[in-house]
Amino acid sequence: MAAGDYYEILGIPKNADEKEIKKAYRNLARKYHPDVCKEEGADERFKKINEAYSVLSDPQKRSQYDQLGHDTFTNASRGSYTGGGGFGSSGFHADFSGFGDIFDFFGGGFGNRGYSGPQAGNDLLMKVKISLEDAVFGTDRDVELAHTEACPACDGTGSETKKLVNCQKCGGTGQMRQMSQTIFGQFVRMSTCSECGGRGKIPEKRCPACRGSGHTQVRRTVSVHIPAGVETGMRLRMEGYGEAGDHGAPNGDLFIEVYVRPHEKFTRKGDDLETFVEISPAQAVVGSVVDVETIEKRTVELNIPAGIQHNTALKIPGEGVRRRGKPGDLLVRVRIAIPKQIDPAVREMYEKILEAEGSRAPEAKKGFFSGFMGKK
Ligand SMILES: [Zn+2]
Ligand SMILES: [Zn+2]
Repeated sequence: MAAGDYYEILGIPKNADEKEIKKAYRNLARKYHPDVCKEEGADERFKKINEAYSVLSDPQKRSQYDQLGHDTFTNASRGSYTGGGGFGSSGFHADFSGFGDIFDFFGGGFGNRGYSGPQAGNDLLMKVKISLEDAVFGTDRDVELAHTEACPACDGTGSETKKLVNCQKCGGTGQMRQMSQTIFGQFVRMSTCSECGGRGKIPEKRCPACRGSGHTQVRRTVSVHIPAGVETGMRLRMEGYGEAGDHGAPNGDLFIEVYVRPHEKFTRKGDDLETFVEISPAQAVVGSVVDVETIEKRTVELNIPAGIQHNTALKIPGEGVRRRGKPGDLLVRVRIAIPKQIDPAVREMYEKILEAEGSRAPEAKKGFFSGFMGKK
């Protein structure tokens, strides 16, 4: 799939609203519909227009697209098979050359689904849990996948001789006509041929390895690249990694849905990360410099200004999620922690502060501090 910004494909500005997108799509789809346009490459063009529209017309996908950029969005998942086996020296020979083009196209309604003839394989959905660090930096993950592949014994034809012959039952049409006579007249009902499953062809000699299905169930380890900046619910599409299609038809796709586990110190807000730091009342009053650990485990100095209020968020620029272009920020929420135990010298100072403020300490009772303060 060649690069080509979806906005360019539809010929609209980046800030186009829903109406403009729809209008541009309608015009282009009408112009390049393969039934109408006989121009060279109209088919491909029409597909792209649909692809662009299916992303930009969906607010959630559009915002993913805007955030990740065309290349990251469309190449989110470059994967490769690592391991598995059973194919011997012939290796894994299905054509996976064009995988990894887009996120989530369930129900996209374009492409070749729905035509009669060899059926494309089913899509698969897998969920992958990752840490917040992995979501921020991106990661490569091996996932164990069980799916069907073309039977190696018959090259996916289902036929021991690798040859197919016309189905006798339906005469190669894949359809059965059933006539019935009712009081309303004669009805013709079309149904899928039970012998060939609508394919119109059957194996010349049934392959014993796959019992004529052309598919075998295999387990494989697939390496998935999860791009930096992913969020819970995002889906990566790995084209061709789903179930095997009929002989001559494309495989289904594998969709990897990402779930980002909560982190004990950081929470994510868009491209920003938020963490917290505890300071003493004196640090809050006088101001202070504290060390803050970033998600990259680097220590950064943070200036706490004098007089800061509890729960104020201070910003460390550029230490948030690095997606593309401008990175997000790290927001450090300041919590003022009141010490529960202080040594007598410090307490004396607090008492001095009270005096200076014109307040009074309570009479020493059997209270909280009685353990260390001693008697006056
Ligand atoms: Zn048939
Ligand atoms: Zn076979």
